Amino acid sequence: MGLITETSLRAMLGSGRGLPNPFPIGAGDRVTPAAADFLKDRRIGLRRIAPEREAGESWAHGEHRGALIPVGVSNRHVHLSPSHVQALFGPDFDLHPLRGLSQEGQFAAKETVTLVGPKGEISGVRVLGPSRGATQVEISRTDGRKLGSTPAVRLSGDLAGTPGISIRGPAGTLGLDEGLIVARNHVHLSPDDAARLSVQHGDRLLLQSLGDRPIVFADAIARVNERFSLDFHIDTDEANAAFLRTGDFVRLVGINMSISDLFGGRKA
Ligand SMILES: [Zn+2]
Repeated sequence: MGLITETSLRAMLGSGRGLPNPFPIGAGDRVTPAAADFLKDRRIGLRRIAPEREAGESWAHGEHRGALIPVGVSNRHVHLSPSHVQALFGPDFDLHPLRGLSQEGQFAAKETVTLVGPKGEISGVRVLGPSRGATQVEISRTDGRKLGSTPAVRLSGDLAGTPGISIRGPAGTLGLDEGLIVARNHVHLSPDDAARLSVQHGDRLLLQSLGDRPIVFADAIARVNERFSLDFHIDTDEANAAFLRTGDFVRLVGINMSISDLFGGRKA
């Protein structure tokens, strides 16, 4: 980042993204006195980002609270089983990777499909690869209103009892009996991330958005896997509600707690 000035801080504020608190300072960064005062006036602390190993040591001592976790916003998308790829795009068809996703091995495909619901259609819906066991369609609540379907919030793969949807591709249309979900928000962690943050697979994380629209996400599920890298996945409705974009950060404020634990209940 280099030199952090009052002007650069005001620009960050003006962009609507807000300033993280504490404000992370990298090893090569220098903060001007005016910038330091600007942060101090807003009660924003500075947090030196230590080299990786030192950070691991300090967090291992329980200082995980306040850690910043990057946000990844998932737009509506479809995961397809191998046979459904053929049904929608033709026999012997393979998906074409367009770009890699934050999680190792996952990609956004060049291919898109149209979702057809009882009340409307949404075209240009990205297929994610590689193809996997069960076909799953992830939409936002807002998308559901357009389609005429209101699926429940589910973790990926938990499809029993979910509504169906029709998917139209260039080579055919598929009627699914189930598989339409609003994805439950979750945090991907590598085993190293999990150790640094004192988080275990299945923990419920309390995360706070930073900036102009502070929102607490009360129940983000931690998912630990060697192929994962640190990322908080939310859908577009959640992102819009909290003014978050991919690459922003949320703050870890609690593990396996409810919001009332944070504030000690209601004051008399
Ligand atoms: Zn995810």
